[in-house]
Amino acid sequence: MTEELNYRQNPNFPNRYISPQKLFSFLQANYSNFISEVGRSYLDKPIYKMSLGNGKTRVLAWSQMHGNESNATHAMLDLLEIFKYQPALAKQLFAEITLDFIFMLNPDGSEKWIRRNALDIDMNRDFLKLASKEFPILKSIAENGKYEYGLNLHEQRTIFTSDGENPATLSFLAPSENFTRDVTETRKKSMAVIAQIFANLKTLIPNQIARYSDEFYPTSTGDNLIKMGIASILYEGGHFPNDYKRTGTRKYYTIALYEGLKAISELKGSTEGWEKYLEIQENIESHYDIIYRNVELNTDFPCVLDVAVQFREEIKEGDDEISLVPIVVEVGDVGKKKGWKEIDCTGKKFISEKKFPKLDEIQNFTIE
Ligand SMILES: [Zn+2]
Repeated sequence: MTEELNYRQNPNFPNRYISPQKLFSFLQANYSNFISEVGRSYLDKPIYKMSLGNGKTRVLAWSQMHGNESNATHAMLDLLEIFKYQPALAKQLFAEITLDFIFMLNPDGSEKWIRRNALDIDMNRDFLKLASKEFPILKSIAENGKYEYGLNLHEQRTIFTSDGENPATLSFLAPSENFTRDVTETRKKSMAVIAQIFANLKTLIPNQIARYSDEFYPTSTGDNLIKMGIASILYEGGHFPNDYKRTGTRKYYTIALYEGLKAISELKGSTEGWEKYLEIQENIESHYDIIYRNVELNTDFPCVLDVAVQFREEIKEGDDEISLVPIVVEVGDVGKKKGWKEIDCTGKKFISEKKFPKLDEIQNFTIE
């Protein structure tokens, strides 16, 4: 019987925002023997790969290919922290696998808390064009490293649920390698790992785990890696109830990262149990952050409608944590969607300098 993983947060990184410089200094100060610079970003920031273990099964993982998705970077930092206190777990894991983890593949986007890189290229759609400076670094490592598995680590917006009610705190995907979405042997390997993660996490966060649609994207990373024969697994960290700092997501993301690596160390390429993947519910796009119901506008004719608001995340100059800016994203009948916060405005006053809320702009009203 192996001991249980006792989750703990890396105390050096309490915020959702991670400054690239702070991350690089931390890695250099604490893990210099395990990291190497594998390239530089357009704005000349270093990109580091950490190599752990010497097991036979080779795993490649990378975080923050999208700059505004720090959960996976946190998960790896938390896992390293946990291993300091539970070295036996690490020893057992890294006897079976070798993990190459690329931290913050998009340091320029991470610094500005934006999805794309400094040239506005979405790196997860750059597999064929290779237009960005950063993505080819990952591609060449993937091509030359004899990897059997790839962990493509992301985050998703708060709009997704597992069942229309509960947030999809974690979503997974064994991507397709062709338009007909064939369930190939390589896909089955990915599915088997996800099935094992699901089995171990579903009691911890019931109804908060989903799987993504397996529509084939010809230019995206996971789909192409699986085509190359690397069993790739997409992780998506999502909303956690009343937790826009995603502290809860971070915790379960860390556990899922560990469980994924553990599953790989046990399965070693086997597809055993892959069918259980199909039992995971599919992601549903069902929610907005806030919905104001039955808002009566100050128009000269009776106009009552719903207003949906979604938070835009941004990092302000000099801040060390992101801010949430409320943006009006839908106006009219929002009856088909739900809000993480729902406010019934019947009998209340719409207070604004404007007659009506403007779509795609910062919320310009209060309700009293
Ligand atoms: Zn992403």
